[in-house]
Amino acid sequence: MTVKPSFNWLRLRRLWRPAPVRRHYDVVIIGGGIHGLATAYYLARTHGIRDVALLESHYIGFGGSGRNTAIVRANQRTAENVRLYDEGLKLWRTLTDELDFNLMFFNCGTLNLGHSEAAVNAFRMAASTHNHLGVKSELLDPQQCAELIPGLDISDRLAFPIHAGLYHPPGGVVRHDAVVWGLAKGAAAHGVHIHQGCEVQGIDTDGSRVTGVRTSLGTIRCNRLGIMAGGYGAAVAAMLGIELPIHPLTIQAMVTHPLKPFLHHVFSSGAYHVYANQTLKGEIATGAHMDPQVNYTNDATAYYLKHQAEALVELMPALRGVRFMRIWAGLADMTPDMAPIMEGHLGYDHLYLDAGWGYFGFKSGPVAGKYMADYMATGERPEMLKAFQLKRFLEGRYSGETAAVMKYGHWD
Ligand SMILES: Cc1cc2nc3c(=O)[nH]c(=O)nc-3n(C[C@H](O)[C@H](O)[C@H](O)COP(=O)(O)OP(=O)(O)OC[C@H]3O[C@@H](n4cnc5c(N)ncnc54)[C@H](O)[C@@H]3O)c2cc1C
Repeated sequence: MTVKPSFNWLRLRRLWRPAPVRRHYDVVIIGGGIHGLATAYYLARTHGIRDVALLESHYIGFGGSGRNTAIVRANQRTAENVRLYDEGLKLWRTLTDELDFNLMFFNCGTLNLGHSEAAVNAFRMAASTHNHLGVKSELLDPQQCAELIPGLDISDRLAFPIHAGLYHPPGGVVRHDAVVWGLAKGAAAHGVHIHQGCEVQGIDTDGSRVTGVRTSLGTIRCNRLGIMAGGYGAAVAAMLGIELPIHPLTIQAMVTHPLKPFLHHVFSSGAYHVYANQTLKGEIATGAHMDPQVNYTNDATAYYLKHQAEALVELMPALRGVRFMRIWAGLADMTPDMAPIMEGHLGYDHLYLDAGWGYFGFKSGPVAGKYMADYMATGERPEMLKAFQLKRFLEGRYSGETAAVMKYGHWD
């Protein structure tokens, strides 16, 4: 008896196919994360620049783009950051249609918990900035926080009792793998060549120009080069002797076994170094801890597992006894002010850099790619990117995002 397969696997189409490596491209982008992919996509789609190669040393999504906890929101602290992330948040729906690929955007809302008077004051300031810029954000009292997040302990029993929450309804989660695959599909459909297993080992220059890259697949020449290598961005820039104020730190995350749906929003606490949400599969995805020393490891640690379990159970005692199934880690490229660097003509004509996103780089991927594509296509810095120049560090004009993290805890 022959068994007829219920699903015809042969009819499955690949999202994109590898292309032969050419020895010259108009544009080469280093890094197959969401930033590199989005830039390549918008270069081809918006500007018609299709002679583009995206070079990835491992596989697309190997870096932070495939390791993050998928939280998206726009409630940053400073106006220039709020504007950028707000546009980024609005892009998810457009992209889902444009790419014809379900990115699984779930705008369930995010709640930041404050555990001190200082945190509540910072929330007030942040909420006024958000509302002034048309971004929804409101201050909740502890009782309202508990109504939003069932099981949240708002008693005085906590080492750091909850004073208030900053609720941001438009935030939520997007499926990170889907974003990587969707952008790769979209970029390839517009003619971009994606070369995986292609490590850039050196960068060639001639006077004030970058002329190409030396890779594990041979030399590739180009007219314009984009460095979008996430946690490895500073190391790639160092190939040209460019020293960036970026420190790669390891950040970890984990998921529990699946539970019946009960947690319908993302919550986070800076004081406890924890954020959590429930995935569509029912797991509690949680993270926040960052190793304090500069390193390039993607290894998780037992210390962190213990810290995360303790923090989660303190805030949500009902989770005691729930087991973690999986833990992983990735790199975060930290700048001194926790805002990114998006720069052009960096020491060389037509050398572009998009880096320093720390743990905010997933939510900003498509919007950063859109503006970096504008920059690379025209050579002119878009207005939106003026606040993110490298020279701000030399001029002492730091962005105020550090305070956003220290005061009210954005660890996602
Ligand atoms: C555990 C964790 C949780 C996080 N949670 C969130 C979150 O909830 N929300 C959020 O917004 N952000 C989050 N982030 C941060 C976010 O994931 C990153 O900021 C973002 O993915 C950066 O994207 P990218 O494209 O710049 O870099 P990456 O995704 O890191 O891509 C860079 C790519 O460059 C490649 N590369 C490096 N060197 C070379 C070379 N020499 N040649 C060729 N290729 C090279 C790497 O292999 C890598 O694939 C989290 C990060 C981690 C690790």
